Formats: sequence, structure tokens, C-alpha cells
Amino acid sequence: MKKILLSAETGKFYKGNMHCHSTNSDGKNTPEELKEMYKAKGYSFLAITDHERIINYSYLDDKDFITITSGEYAIKEFSEQSTLKNRNMKVCHLNLYAKEQSNDNSVCYNDTFNHFVKDPVIKKELLERYGNYERIYGADGINEIIRIANENGFFVCYNHPRWSLENYGEYSEYEGLWGVEIFNTSCNRGGLYEYNINVFDDFLRDGKKVYASCGDDNHSPYSSFGAFVMVNTEELTYENIINALLNGNFYSSTGPEIFELYVDGNFVHIKCSDAKHITYSTRGRRSAIKNADKDSCITEATFEIQDIDEYFRLDVIDEYGRRANTQAYYINLL
Ligand SMILES: [Zn+2]
Ligand SMILES: [Zn+2]
Repeated sequence: MKKILLSAETGKFYKGNMHCHSTNSDGKNTPEELKEMYKAKGYSFLAITDHERIINYSYLDDKDFITITSGEYAIKEFSEQSTLKNRNMKVCHLNLYAKEQSNDNSVCYNDTFNHFVKDPVIKKELLERYGNYERIYGADGINEIIRIANENGFFVCYNHPRWSLENYGEYSEYEGLWGVEIFNTSCNRGGLYEYNINVFDDFLRDGKKVYASCGDDNHSPYSSFGAFVMVNTEELTYENIINALLNGNFYSSTGPEIFELYVDGNFVHIKCSDAKHITYSTRGRRSAIKNADKDSCITEATFEIQDIDEYFRLDVIDEYGRRANTQAYYINLL
């Protein structure tokens, strides 16, 4: 029996950037400029994840463009120090996305970390509204923030582990995450290798059902338009985008597009833009690959699914090395 996982037949694909910064924190562009930039490039939604507080940007929305209420929180190994001054300090950065657009409740707010707000009146208001939550670096402190965020209507993405200097020893203890940022444009364009497919695999192999997300983390036009998610849903509404993100009806990409992904019997089929390689990965060592001939490209592939695979995920790699990554699909849930 055919089961469609991603398809333009069952909805549309909407392009979005899940991570970016405006002049409300340390970004160079105003929220209005960000909207214009992304809309002009064919994006349908944008999460402006300004540092250290949750901001509702719904005033920017129109019928073809939606902003996701969100923010990015830091938890630092040495809370009194700046990550810019202490280049060897471990940190954990989390993006919080609101399920309801009106929810700008900056849970776990920390006044010291929020040095991005220059206006003392606004800073005082934020402190009065939210108090001063002490963020403690380490699994217990980070898991508490994730738990509080989840309880207050947010879902949480674990950002750029390489920039954060976090390894398996740290992130394997994190619980309750919605997603892992498998690509971060800003880090990559700064010279860091921030393609974290191995971190995604580590979570999955530990039995944690997280999703592969990605984002530009742009602080200026220079680091924009390098990584996007494609959400598959019927029409562009806040609720539809959020539900698709929560249900895994999306893929992440640095270039290639996936047009169709479906399972028919014991086989998974994918149709995509021009690719050099398409790979099939599982929980274990079993994997498969389809390669293009030297002077051509492939635009589809079929792989056999076996019960021992537990789950599978597919990567599409184009001639420039750019990748589209599907979510992990669990065989017992298909
Ligand atoms: Zn960050
Ligand atoms: Zn960021």
C-alpha cells in the first residue's frame, strides 16, 4: 500500500528559514528588511529568533508570508563571561518556537544575558515582567529550560553544536528537544564546518525522535539564503506551518529540492532536483546509495526497506555538495 510522506499532490511546499537575527538583537537588518529579503527570494515564512527573548512579529505577516514567534536562548558554562571574549567556553544555544503566534512569554528570561536591549526602559519592563531566571549550564539546567519551554507552548531546537563546542558527552543528555540544527549558514560562512548530520544520527540512535532542522542564523545579508526547510502542508497559515513542523512534514536543505517521497510496500521512492548521489541510511550499519554517471544527474531513486532498519532517512547530494535531508521515518509507524 502506498504511503505518501512528502508530496506536492497532498499539499504545497513552503520555504522557510528557522533561524535569524534582526536589529532587535545583534542582527544588521531590521525585521522589515528581513521580511523583504526573504520574501523576494521565494520564502513563505521566517523565524526571527532574536537573542534572549521571545518576540511576536505577526505585524509583518501578509497572505503570502508568515513570521514564527520565537527566540534564541544561550546557556553558558561560565555565566559571567561573554562567548566573544572566551572563545573556549562551552555554551548551549536553543531556539524556542511558539505553537501559538501570540505567545511571546519569554520563559526562563535572564536579565544579564540580555545585553542586546540597549533601551533601559524596555530592559526594566522585561525584568519586571519575567524576573531573572538563573540558567545553569549542564544537562540538569538545560533540560529544565527545555521542559519549561515545552510546558509553556514552545518547541525547542538544539542549535549549532560545533560552534557551541559541545560533543556527544554533552548533547546526549539533553531531553525533550523537537529538533537538531543540522546546518547553520552563518557558522559555515565563518569557516566552521556546521553540517551536523552525525549529531542527528546520534540522537536517533539513542532512541530520541528529533527532527532535522536547519537555518541561516543570519546576522547580515552575507550569511543569508544558505539553508532552508521545506514544509509540506495544504495552505499557508501559522497553524498549518507549526503542525507540519511538529509532525515532521518537512525536510531540510542547503540547495536540492525533494518533490516526492513515498513508501510502496517494502520500497521507498524519492523524486528530487538534479542530484549526483542519493543515500539511504538506517539506525544500524545497513545503508544504500544511488550514484549518477560521471556526466549526468539523477532525479529519483528507490530503496528497499528492511524491518531491521528500524528507521530510514534519505540524503540528496547535488554536484556542488549541497544536501537535502529527509526526516527519519520509523518503519513500525509507516
Ligand atoms: Zn546561536
Ligand atoms: Zn542565532
